[in-house]
Amino acid sequence: MEKKLIFSDEFIRSLADEYPTPFYLYDEKTLRKNAKLFNQAFSWNNGYKEYFAVKANPNPELLKILQSEGLGFDCSSLPELQICERLGVSGADIMFTSNDTPAAEYVKAKELNAIINLDDITDLQVLEDCAGLPEVICFRWNPGELREVASVIGNPVEAKYGLTTPQIFDAFAAAKSKSVKRFGLHTMVASNLLNEDFFTTTAELLFDLVKAIELQVGVDISFVNMGGGFGVAYKPDQEPLDLVRLGQLIRAEYAKFSAGDHAVQFAIFTESGRLVAAEAGVLVTRVIHRKDIYRTYIGVDASMANLMRPGMYGAYHHISTISKSDSKNRSEEKVDVVGSLCENCDKFAVERMLPVLEIGDLLAIHDAGAHGYSMGFQYNGKLRCAELLLEESGNVKMIRRAETFDDYIATLDVNIP
Ligand SMILES: *Cc1c(COP(=O)(O)O)cnc(C)c1O
Repeated sequence: MEKKLIFSDEFIRSLADEYPTPFYLYDEKTLRKNAKLFNQAFSWNNGYKEYFAVKANPNPELLKILQSEGLGFDCSSLPELQICERLGVSGADIMFTSNDTPAAEYVKAKELNAIINLDDITDLQVLEDCAGLPEVICFRWNPGELREVASVIGNPVEAKYGLTTPQIFDAFAAAKSKSVKRFGLHTMVASNLLNEDFFTTTAELLFDLVKAIELQVGVDISFVNMGGGFGVAYKPDQEPLDLVRLGQLIRAEYAKFSAGDHAVQFAIFTESGRLVAAEAGVLVTRVIHRKDIYRTYIGVDASMANLMRPGMYGAYHHISTISKSDSKNRSEEKVDVVGSLCENCDKFAVERMLPVLEIGDLLAIHDAGAHGYSMGFQYNGKLRCAELLLEESGNVKMIRRAETFDDYIATLDVNIP
């Protein structure tokens, strides 16, 4: 299958004439389309909400777009909570899912009336001591050996998150004995999965657990958060998740639990970052070097400091070439596409067949709208690049400028000449 670039070559070429490369470029239309898809896929469920995982892309201009589509936000740190606060988001529009949580973060989450998702059985007391208990509490479940299928990203038994199954029962009982009035159950055990069965099995396990908790502990679970992890078809030969069909499969699971003896009914939440935002962004970079040694290296002006996923875990990102001229019929060759970081993992592609590139050609790295800019760093004195947004109106807006040397030294205590 061919992987189509969401922007036209001419458009990217004209932007690269105006703005220095590299830069991120986002598309409002695609972002809205994906947000709508979540709401459509789960519209059968009363109270459904998608909480966009802010860590995937915390740019407030993008968050505002998602807010206007009715999405909530999944925060996991104080600055993420503060960004939401600045946008006027509060209450049940925020889920605070963190682990190893500093008290100050609980205090802010409570102040914003966010739904707090506790990661450990001891956190109930910690929260009570530092901020007082809210009316609503959620617990994060770690299914352990029940979910070894998730071993692609790490076996849940080895994952630091969540409560064990026996602890979950004790935790709800403890919360019930205090002043907590409403309860939620959460799990997130895998990342970037394209396999429908995985999600339906997770739903079944969660729904089963809800029933067991209600029967044994005597609390009503009012929502179940299935977490994120909805995969993106990064590779051209991958079949994208059909979210609407997946929604119907989960609906069928839900139907089994919401009727008959001991029926349980609850709102379903998701907290996807990737499937909402990845497709809506590309990283545009320019070829500045070509080197033929044991392999052919195409050097570009972006590095893994701009987009860490390929270097960090060998993730595949599709690359479209946008040549200076319209010479479309170039032959292909096998190259490594590299950045200038002094680390050999600083590669956007390894032994990839690409059209023969010339210095000055542009490359668009696909599916970079989630876990892209937000994972960026300054190691090796690499400064973060700008972020641009193509609005639905056709207007292009710079939604974050590129960092400068002054930004790089802004936190130094000493004056350097
Ligand atoms: C990272 C994360 C998400 C989002 O993951 P995606 O792969 O972007 O869907 C959701 N929930 C939690 C708790 C996370 O840590």
